[in-house]
Amino acid sequence: MAKHNQFKATLIALIICIISFNFVKIGGEFYFNPFYILSFVFAITLIVKSINYVCPSCQKNQVIRSFLSYRLPKAECYSCNCKLEK
Ligand SMILES: [Zn+2]
Repeated sequence: MAKHNQFKATLIALIICIISFNFVKIGGEFYFNPFYILSFVFAITLIVKSINYVCPSCQKNQVIRSFLSYRLPKAECYSCNCKLEK
């Protein structure tokens, strides 16, 4: 799978887990809920992926463009248009 599609899949998985966590009640304490644990795992994965998603030629981060500006990564760099997929 292409890297930018993997990123989107992780984001979708995180959203599904957060929604499931709010709607699916599983017996026991909430922190034993597998959706709660999975949303944590996906959230951390996304943060790590975002920080490491840097264009190899111009060094611009593809996800965190500025403090308040976040974008989904694409196959090409948004700044210099070089191919990010190997
Ligand atoms: Zn670039």
